[in-house]
Amino acid sequence: MSRACAEVSLSAITHNLKLIKNKTDAQVLAVVKADAYGHGLLPVAIAAQAAGADWLGTALLEEAIELRKGGINKPIIAWLTPLGEDFKTAINLDIDLGVSSVELLEQIIDAAKAVKKIARVHLEVDTGMSRGGVLDEWDRLVASILAAVEAKQIKVIGIWSHFARADEPNEEMNQAQIKLFDEKIDLAVKAGINAQFLHIANTAASLSNKLSHKNIIRFGIGLYGLSPDVGNMGDSKSLGLKPAMKLKAKLNLVKSVSAGASVGYGGTAVTKSETKLGVVTLGYADGIPRNTNNLAGVFVDGNRAPIIGRVSMDQFVVDLGINSSAKTGDEVIVFGDGAAGEYTIDEWAKAAGTINYEIVTRIGPRVPRIYPRE
Ligand SMILES: *Cc1c(COP(=O)(O)O)cnc(C)c1O
Repeated sequence: MSRACAEVSLSAITHNLKLIKNKTDAQVLAVVKADAYGHGLLPVAIAAQAAGADWLGTALLEEAIELRKGGINKPIIAWLTPLGEDFKTAINLDIDLGVSSVELLEQIIDAAKAVKKIARVHLEVDTGMSRGGVLDEWDRLVASILAAVEAKQIKVIGIWSHFARADEPNEEMNQAQIKLFDEKIDLAVKAGINAQFLHIANTAASLSNKLSHKNIIRFGIGLYGLSPDVGNMGDSKSLGLKPAMKLKAKLNLVKSVSAGASVGYGGTAVTKSETKLGVVTLGYADGIPRNTNNLAGVFVDGNRAPIIGRVSMDQFVVDLGINSSAKTGDEVIVFGDGAAGEYTIDEWAKAAGTINYEIVTRIGPRVPRIYPRE
């Protein structure tokens, strides 16, 4: 290993996919947006497809195109496509498109006419999150699609929505969203639109509410072995999930300092006693959160060494302790599944006041993703 790497266990991805397959009668869509939550788009998609994923899903169209060109032959949905995207290529590559506005629908119809091929779409209804999908315009959307369906320009493959609070399984809002979803589907059916697939569940709903599964579940964070909400739903282990990413780096330098040494920019930390410090070869430019505290750190030489001082752009400092035998050049584990005693992604998230999703997705492109043979 050179400076740093993120090791991704594809057998963990396989395990997590199979675990959810065994818990549902619905088809499983592996969510691989944002470079597979930082784990590497194609290797993860290929592993998920081999493990039985029925669908692949991305937010951005360019990632969906990369999947198709990379050999993924299962259905792929791209659900966040602003106006003006390359819908002709999407249709030619049999990429399903999420439709979140009447304006978008019009552009997709135009592209379908131009390439003389039926566009496969999934209509998005806003059931309460007030983010993507149409709300009051549902009737108008449904009405404006009928002619295009008739003219074989569009096929409505799915109708879908998204939960705002699925990671709080007892929240009443979840039931209200399902109810509204069902009502909107009824309206579409009455208007003559029969979508084969209905989907609303993310990982949290997939794990906690079978009634929400409909006939596709969109499995994201769980695929990577992480809990949607440690507090409400338990950690990876209690959910039977295996975290797939292990982040490694090196000690660029180990040095002894006396008590009272000021460490890092701003002098925000001062050593309490004589100790050894280790300089780790990763920084906020690599996605290490700048505002962490000593609740996170690295695992080296069989021990945890907490962060001391502020994280810099390319490096951060850990307190190894006076008795550490760690030396310049040693490899460290920044986070992993915790099995050896290393910090977990959840611990890093807590230390930085964020969620595990953000910790893994923002590991930057300077950090190579490695897929060890298992
Ligand atoms: C990201 C995303 C998901 C997956 O959510 P998880 O909580 O990671 O399972 C599902 N559906 C949509 C529309 C998303 O954007």
